[in-house]
Amino acid sequence: MPAENTMTKSASEKSWQQRAREISFATQAFIDGRFVNAASGATFDNVNPATGRVFCRVASCDTADVDLAVAAARAAFESGSWVNMAPKARKRILQRFAESIHKHKEELALLETLDMGKPISDSLKVDIPGAASCIEWYAEAIDKLYDEVAPTGPDALATITREPMGVVGAIVPWNFPLLMAAWKIGPVLAAGNSFVLKPSEKSPLTAIRVAQLAVESGIPEGVFNVVPGFGHTAGQALSSHMDVDCIAFTGSTATGKRVMQSAAQSNMKRAWLECGGKSPNIVLADYPDLERAATAAAYGIFFNQGEMCSAGSRLIVHERIKDALLEKVAAIGAKLKPGDPLDPATRLGAIVDEVQLKRVLEYIESGKTEGARVYAGGERKLENTGGYFVEPTVFDGVQPTMRIANEEIFGPVLATITFKDVNQAIAIANNVIYGLAAAVWTRDITIAHRTARALRAGTVYVNCYDADDITVPFGGFKQSGIGRDKSLHAFDKYTELKTTWIDLS
Ligand code: NAD
Repeated sequence: MPAENTMTKSASEKSWQQRAREISFATQAFIDGRFVNAASGATFDNVNPATGRVFCRVASCDTADVDLAVAAARAAFESGSWVNMAPKARKRILQRFAESIHKHKEELALLETLDMGKPISDSLKVDIPGAASCIEWYAEAIDKLYDEVAPTGPDALATITREPMGVVGAIVPWNFPLLMAAWKIGPVLAAGNSFVLKPSEKSPLTAIRVAQLAVESGIPEGVFNVVPGFGHTAGQALSSHMDVDCIAFTGSTATGKRVMQSAAQSNMKRAWLECGGKSPNIVLADYPDLERAATAAAYGIFFNQGEMCSAGSRLIVHERIKDALLEKVAAIGAKLKPGDPLDPATRLGAIVDEVQLKRVLEYIESGKTEGARVYAGGERKLENTGGYFVEPTVFDGVQPTMRIANEEIFGPVLATITFKDVNQAIAIANNVIYGLAAAVWTRDITIAHRTARALRAGTVYVNCYDADDITVPFGGFKQSGIGRDKSLHAFDKYTELKTTWIDLS
């Protein structure tokens, strides 16, 4: 159990390193309102990416545990304890839950950073507050949404209502562990469903902790369950479960396809997929403020160690301004030195684990082998710590056919491709399997609109990158996914439409 007193007493005077040594936390599954071990008793090692050392062992759930969690979620749904609660009351409880996440933000931020290596200042300012305000936003929506009456004429009354699906399973990744979960938790619970969450095996701790906060906030037992475990065990069991009505997935495109297959082969549960990206960031020669474009390009790929689904990993720049822009991007990258994630001054943390580290380094090698030039960075850093650090890396001279121009690296590696005219830039931008995000930088309003329309991506930024707000949908074209997180559109995923036709003739 988290030692709240330790966390809150004199937290502000203690270093994060000291807090990390003192913190205690739950590592079990959370099913039907209680912490439980995996039925098999199995655990898996949880490694701190900044040190390479195991810092806890976590319950390793499998089919038996998923069965229990789904049964609890189903029973809670059937009992009506949550779904039939007055909307105003449900709203208040979800608001309390969001407030509780805010209140525990230091503890949650610390768990997030220990789990997956991001800088504590980002966990504290971005991830945890973002998760809390997402849930709060959906809470506020609960008693403000109306259903529809169809214009059927005088002899009938046809209502079109949204109903919760029942039991929703969610499988989430490690790059923004709690935030990605919150994008599901908010609309799933606001719509009245019961929930079974499988966090990534690389970052399970905040999910486990917030399940407890949910129940303490008044969410009835069984409505919010967490089954930590691996993809091929707990993830597979959840996505192929016969009594799960909907599976909401965020992760890689390859796994997304497996989840879709499991959904189809089991009970045809609805499968919503938020998958990978290889997002183009197009800078036209007329854009006057290269400093601004360079800053956005650098943070667009180096923020969160480049472990961003929407990372602007392809800088597609007009050949005339390429040198001037790259110089600025590299200068910003050089200031983002990898460091201890627990140091509040650190801007670039550790790569999540050794597997991902090797993957990033292997892509850097492949870029060199295929003839691209390392313009900046390119090396592993701080190896003596045992942690997995890579410096910001910029490739120049990248050809659209190279692997580093097509495949998602999920690390701080930027591929720079040049173009001569905007149509060529658009063609390069669209010529990948992904379509999550894209950006264009120009002063010309016509070109801006025409390019934004031509780009095949779920979000197009004009003269910015990674601008974000809960009010706008997020998700992908093509193999970046199916469905949208965030905004009121997310309710489409977690509700069924029902037509009720009443004969008045
Ligand atoms: P991943 O696909 O390896 O794993 C994601 C989740 O799926 C994990 O919880 C994992 O345990 C589980 N999983 C693995 N195999 C499974 C299986 N056979 N059945 C069911 N579940 C299984 O992805 P990752 O490495 O954790 O995360 C990085 C990826 O996530 C990147 O591709 C990134 O672009 C993507 N991502 C997308 C978005 C978005 O909104 N589109 C947001 C964040 C991350």
